[in-house]
Amino acid sequence: MNELTIESLQTTILDIPLVRPHKFATTSMDRQPLLLVAIRTTGGVVGYGEGVVPGGPWWGGESVETMKAIIDGYIAPVIVGRRVDEITGIMLDIERVVARADFAKAAVDVALHDAWARSLGVPVHTLLGGAFRDSVEVTWALGAAPVDEIVAEAEQKLAQRLHFSFKLKMGALDPAEDTERVAAIAQALRGKAGVRVDINARWDRLTALRYLPRLAEAGVELIEQPTPGEQLEVLAELRQILPVPIMADESVCSPYDAFEVARRRAADVIAVKTTKCGGLARSRVIVAVAQAAGIACHGATSIEGPIGTAASIHFACAQPGINVGSELFGPLLFAEQLLIEPLRYADGRVALPQGPGLGVELDLDAVRMFTRN
Ligand code: MG
Repeated sequence: MNELTIESLQTTILDIPLVRPHKFATTSMDRQPLLLVAIRTTGGVVGYGEGVVPGGPWWGGESVETMKAIIDGYIAPVIVGRRVDEITGIMLDIERVVARADFAKAAVDVALHDAWARSLGVPVHTLLGGAFRDSVEVTWALGAAPVDEIVAEAEQKLAQRLHFSFKLKMGALDPAEDTERVAAIAQALRGKAGVRVDINARWDRLTALRYLPRLAEAGVELIEQPTPGEQLEVLAELRQILPVPIMADESVCSPYDAFEVARRRAADVIAVKTTKCGGLARSRVIVAVAQAAGIACHGATSIEGPIGTAASIHFACAQPGINVGSELFGPLLFAEQLLIEPLRYADGRVALPQGPGLGVELDLDAVRMFTRN
């Protein structure tokens, strides 16, 4: 036993209200459940990680409830008693008892990094090779209100210099209506701001062939995952036809997925979420595969709260392969920041938090207030 020994792992479910509902193709959320993972060492250091999925199990089959069951029942017994600096070995041993469950593993991986960095008195990015920048660009997700209101929201963000590019969710409406709505928004913002769309894998090949050219023509600058994640040939075909880049999200959760996308030339950009990718260590491998193939990477989000977002900022600031900005806006959608000092967003960017570990301190009273009973 020494002070790096892991004494306990605790999980707590929180429900955080949002400032406005966030819509996906198949669901909408007005609160975001978070699973807070706390790893305590015998030296008295506590490292935090966050288990979070975008709006429930529809995206990848996991939820805060499944993550809690997997972590408490199967991952905690592997971890307790080990040294917090044995992350590689611990994660390999977790692989032996839990397949997939990448969102749950990501929460544990981040808590281990935070605890180890705090034990050393260094920031998490030091463990990732060191930061080469101190902030990263952040795109804003526009809501699903009528076109005029959406354009007004975007213009307000531009005037406040908060964001310079915007993402719109598609796939919930009839494709013709959806395309006209987004084309109108893209045309209104043309020349003022970048507009991207995320179809969350909801369209089939023919629908994509029919409507994506119209979106490109209206000025949409990037199209994220129009068709089902496993259909890489379809993504590759669309990429050949369209004059705008294609981003793979649902198609890439593992280094092997990234290799397949690269081998089939199926995307120009990969959305790297430290959550869906199983944590910081595995996200690095995914970015390395993409870099070797000349594929860009975007710092994507599962609508993480402060801990998950801080982890993704450390990753993006230490990883030159994350070279087309981020959408790490999660905390801006939250009605409660859960931090003593909130993350800093300004000039279209979010700042790398300074200090040991993730560089953020949880407000434990707020954590208690939003803990699910
Ligand atoms: Mg997406």
